[in-house]
Amino acid sequence: MSEAFASLGLTAELVRAVAEEGYTVPTPIQVEAIPHILGGRDVLAGAQTGTGKTAGFTLPLLQRLAASDAGHRGIRALILTPTRELAAQVEESVRVYGRHLALRTALVYGGVGFEPQAEALEAAPEILVATPGRLLDHVAQQTVDLRHVEILVLDEADRMLDMGFIHDIRKVLALLPSKRQNLLFSATFSDEIRELANGLLHDPAHVQVAPRNAESALVAQRIHPVDQGRKRALLAHLISSGDWRQVLVFTRTKHGANRLAEQLGKDGIEAAAIHGNKSQGARTRALAAFKSGELRVLVATDLAARGLDIEELPHVVNYELPNVPEHYVHRIGRTGRAGVTGEAISLVSPDEHSYLAEIEKLLKRKVERTVVPGFEPGTAAPPPPRAAADRPAQRPHEHRRPQPQRPQPRREHRPAGPEHRPPAPEHRPPAPEHAPRAGADDEERQPSTNANAQFPSSGPVTAPGPARRGGRDPRRAGRGREVPALLRGTGRRNG
Ligand code: AMP
Repeated sequence: MSEAFASLGLTAELVRAVAEEGYTVPTPIQVEAIPHILGGRDVLAGAQTGTGKTAGFTLPLLQRLAASDAGHRGIRALILTPTRELAAQVEESVRVYGRHLALRTALVYGGVGFEPQAEALEAAPEILVATPGRLLDHVAQQTVDLRHVEILVLDEADRMLDMGFIHDIRKVLALLPSKRQNLLFSATFSDEIRELANGLLHDPAHVQVAPRNAESALVAQRIHPVDQGRKRALLAHLISSGDWRQVLVFTRTKHGANRLAEQLGKDGIEAAAIHGNKSQGARTRALAAFKSGELRVLVATDLAARGLDIEELPHVVNYELPNVPEHYVHRIGRTGRAGVTGEAISLVSPDEHSYLAEIEKLLKRKVERTVVPGFEPGTAAPPPPRAAADRPAQRPHEHRRPQPQRPQPRREHRPAGPEHRPPAPEHRPPAPEHAPRAGADDEERQPSTNANAQFPSSGPVTAPGPARRGGRDPRRAGRGREVPALLRGTGRRNG
């Protein structure tokens, strides 16, 4: 099953990790990029989110690091990303794919406490995932050593430039040793990106893959506004009136997936749920029945749907919008594949409008709304009261908590601009020469006040590590020992 990954030259530990993730075949970007990266070449890759690009660079990066022992305590692989969300996601991927290897990873980004990050860095991680501004803060405080970086990854380089990070990136580049491997991933190639790539990459392998996402012209997207309590009736109506034979339906929670599959069954529509609580056997059986056409509806959570590759899937329904906008792109990318057109429909109730706004921001456009006659919002009788656990998403805050499977920082309650910014937190290091800027950069540099509230606690970070490096700002001594929860996974050893 995972021979396809082994045939790319990946070691058993990595093949095992991807198999555990449920991946059976490498995506095109993985097929193309992994052998080049394993061979030590620089790579210029055109790939968007949703193509599997993260594993495309992370797997070979892990393998190269694991193959040798550096004999120093500096960072060996540096992955720069434009946003804290992406940084957190990539770091999570590094830990997931590297779980059978003894490599350490750390995560640094702005808007959260500085000191816990400094402590995580002292634990001598080999891999650092960072946003540029906060990385430079650490450089200024001498809490990070970049003199031994062997591999540099610029992820979503176009977005980093759009966000005004070019100067920060150039400052970081100046701190790295000249002999290193460079990997640049970008969805688009402006003149500015080409200029950056020309100055950075040596004889790069060019890799370009077709996007597997929303902007595929093959996916028709539509929104049906509807009251929460009428979603199931609308879904049943759409399935029956459209005579849909094969529909993948997404819910936000495992419980919601179970309940919906059960209810559809009662409506006479054959459905099964797949999610992380189902045994592998049950998942495989449900998927086989769905693929063969025996099962009309498969209800899935985001995590369970990863790795599902169903050719010519005609309909995807977002029964509930995802709380992470990128998941919308991943979800609808399940249809419109292999040159066949597909339809992605979202049933959106009024309490989900903030999710929709985030999604449309990501897509950079509005998705067409069509009210289905008979399902106009605000016209339904209120649904009968249900048990608390059985209640649909009426409390957006609760549902916006990052999902336990893959914690994600969120954006929705961030202040819009500098005027909303709370005063700089005490534990912030003295501002280096790159002062906070307005606009997109705020996301990266937001003070910790809000951010602290945004993250779930995943237990204290155990990163006491060996003795501190010299030359640190004595003003930081003894400060900021709180906030370990913000640094989920930082400084931990994989495996
Ligand atoms: P990315 O483009 O890196 O953001 O990845 C998009 C999604 O694809 C993520 O949810 C990954 O977990 C998933 N993914 C990555 N590689 C594979 C694969 N070979 N098979 C199935 N899913 C994958």
